[in-house]
Amino acid sequence: MQTSSLVSRDLASRRCEIVVVGGGITGCVTAYHLARAGADVLLLERHDLNTQASGRNAGSLHGQIQHEPFLHQGEAWARGFVPALELMRDALPLWDGLGAELGVDLEVSRRGGVLVAETGDQLRDIERKVAVERAAGLPVRLLDRAELQEVAPYVSGRMAGGELCPDEGKVNSLVAAPAFAAAARRHGAVVETGVDVLDVQRRPGGFRLVTSRGTVDCTQLALTAGTDLAAFGELLGVRLPVTAEPVQVSVTERVEPLVPHLVYFAGEKLTLKQAGSGALLIGGGWPARRDRAGNPVLDPASLRANLRVAVTVVPAVARAQLLRTWVGVGNGTPDQSPLIGRVPSAPGLVVGMFPYMGLTAGPVVGRAVADLLLERDPGRDLTPFRPDRFAT
Ligand SMILES: Cc1cc2nc3c(=O)[nH]c(=O)nc-3n(C[C@H](O)[C@H](O)[C@H](O)COP(=O)(O)OP(=O)(O)OC[C@H]3O[C@@H](n4cnc5c(N)ncnc54)[C@H](O)[C@@H]3O)c2cc1C
Repeated sequence: MQTSSLVSRDLASRRCEIVVVGGGITGCVTAYHLARAGADVLLLERHDLNTQASGRNAGSLHGQIQHEPFLHQGEAWARGFVPALELMRDALPLWDGLGAELGVDLEVSRRGGVLVAETGDQLRDIERKVAVERAAGLPVRLLDRAELQEVAPYVSGRMAGGELCPDEGKVNSLVAAPAFAAAARRHGAVVETGVDVLDVQRRPGGFRLVTSRGTVDCTQLALTAGTDLAAFGELLGVRLPVTAEPVQVSVTERVEPLVPHLVYFAGEKLTLKQAGSGALLIGGGWPARRDRAGNPVLDPASLRANLRVAVTVVPAVARAQLLRTWVGVGNGTPDQSPLIGRVPSAPGLVVGMFPYMGLTAGPVVGRAVADLLLERDPGRDLTPFRPDRFAT
């Protein structure tokens, strides 16, 4: 619970240079870099910090093209995804130093990721994906059956081979965004929780935000509101087709060291990893349901399927007691690439959001959003991520 939200109840007629809307990983990283550069920044979050996707995800640090979209959309899509893949690639080594920079143990470990194939056909699909990834400069390699057993002896002997992506790993997503927010505060950012931004009005030289706790005027605005970006797009007359898909993740009791890698499966959805605590985190994008009121709720059939796949790939998982399953709403875009950039029709506005794997990319995306607001060179071509690229 953030005490600031209890202390300052009213934002009436607040004025500041830059407002960041959204206290997930993207907004907290953005606020951190803005505050560090000396900007007058106010972060507004509807709930508490890190309570939506950024605090409900599985903590995977991804570095490879995800197998399922590759299967559905093929090489041409994968080649188009390479600029987004480069954001993930650049974020991975940054995570290693963030604990020291922010003064919080983020439980980062990067011992690699293993995509497991059960059949020869699946291995051939992986081989096609590896070819695109290697052409993009990723240090991935194909594993035959014997090499897979050597690298990952905990994987079922039935498995035919796989792919090793040495850069992948995990982070404790419960601590990452709050650590950025705390550091942002230390650098002078004001972080307000329990503030719902209800309307955005364009004003000469900036914006007026109508919130549940008063109005705020600002010169520039960073929208890092995750799945709510679609609604903000409607307010501003910009098409931001961000999808919101409820998915679930499970955690087991703590067990002896079993799985050092981030494990995926080429046959069905799976991510499996072992947190620093020893708990196994089991997910991979298995869908949750929505109840009649539209609230995301657990889908028991999805849970059973997810556990079946985990045990098929890593049989020892069957010995661990399941403790809890939760639901989060994942953010997507039609082409699976991020939205990062200014919106020409709304001067002063910068949008930041990385779909599906936005925890991994968060340190790079938030930094890029801050760079744009500060008129610093982001050091990379952001045109593939133009937020208005879906405008009809
Ligand atoms: C179950 C699940 C598992 C996942 N696993 C992984 C993984 O292992 N690795 C990985 O890299 N990614 C994973 N992801 C994706 C990742 O979590 C997201 O891409 C990322 O967290 C998005 O961060 P964000 O800051 O852009 O959005 P969010 O974390 O959703 O933050 C946006 C914030 O904006 C606030 N907000 C919205 N509208 C308003 C408003 N009007 N006023 C005020 N505040 C507002 C929201 O309350 C929210 O806190 C997973 C996602 C889910 C759901």
